[in-house]
Amino acid sequence: MAEHIGESMPQTDGGRKFPVEEFARFHQELKEIRASLAASLDKKSELQQLTGDVARERISSGKPVLELPVALPEEGALCDAAIRILDTVVKNEVFDKPEADAAKKIIEGGGLDLSALTSVVVTGDSHAVEKAALDSGLALDTLLFLVEQLARATLTWHSAGIKGLFDDEVKTSRTGACPVCGSHPRISIIEGEEGVRKLACGMCETVWRYKRIGCPFCGSEDQKKFRRFTVDDESGLSALLCDVCKRYLKQIDRRKLGDDEYGVTELETMSSRFDILARREGYR
Ligand SMILES: [Zn+2]
Ligand SMILES: [Zn+2]
Repeated sequence: MAEHIGESMPQTDGGRKFPVEEFARFHQELKEIRASLAASLDKKSELQQLTGDVARERISSGKPVLELPVALPEEGALCDAAIRILDTVVKNEVFDKPEADAAKKIIEGGGLDLSALTSVVVTGDSHAVEKAALDSGLALDTLLFLVEQLARATLTWHSAGIKGLFDDEVKTSRTGACPVCGSHPRISIIEGEEGVRKLACGMCETVWRYKRIGCPFCGSEDQKKFRRFTVDDESGLSALLCDVCKRYLKQIDRRKLGDDEYGVTELETMSSRFDILARREGYR
């Protein structure tokens, strides 16, 4: 099917250069914190033993492979990681320092049950985080950002440990939600001579195949309802906006990047600008 999606240029910041190097450094630091938090899970021995047959069976019946709840890092390790994330966030000027200091104080005083919050975000439910934000007086964005990093570290670790068991089924899965953990995709990647489209999970970093045209959030294939955001100086990067569900998906064409080596975190980072542009237009 040929692609006929209207393109448009978003309102940009009046020629101010997007700080891609700063974003890359920030995301690299977050990735390192997540990796050391995930390493604390290596010491846990009570992990479920999953076989390839069970995993394939779950994928073919449309269920995510990971059965929830999954084992989480210890509360102490979650707290240490949360403090390091807040320090990184302040250093990179992502949040206000007073906001981050308030969060640190609450965490150090044991005022947040990070295990419970991480566990609900792992299941895709942010309701308990909203309540915790209200109770603690912290901004919801701050708390969500923090807990999502903890949940992502946890899910990426679990996903990496079982991926080899059912690689082919994951790679060919056509579902709009992650076949491993059930989360929404964060980016879509076009690659190969034929322009195969893949989705990458924003939580466990699994990559799987998806149809060329279509919104993975609501399933719509009506091209008149899609719009593509491009910024002319960044070839290969765009965002697909869906007017049916008002969600956006960053799209990266590897063929135009000239490098096949970039991983999910790097691709997410280099397309960060489109998060700001799409959210400013009211897409989430
Ligand atoms: Zn996932
Ligand atoms: Zn949609």
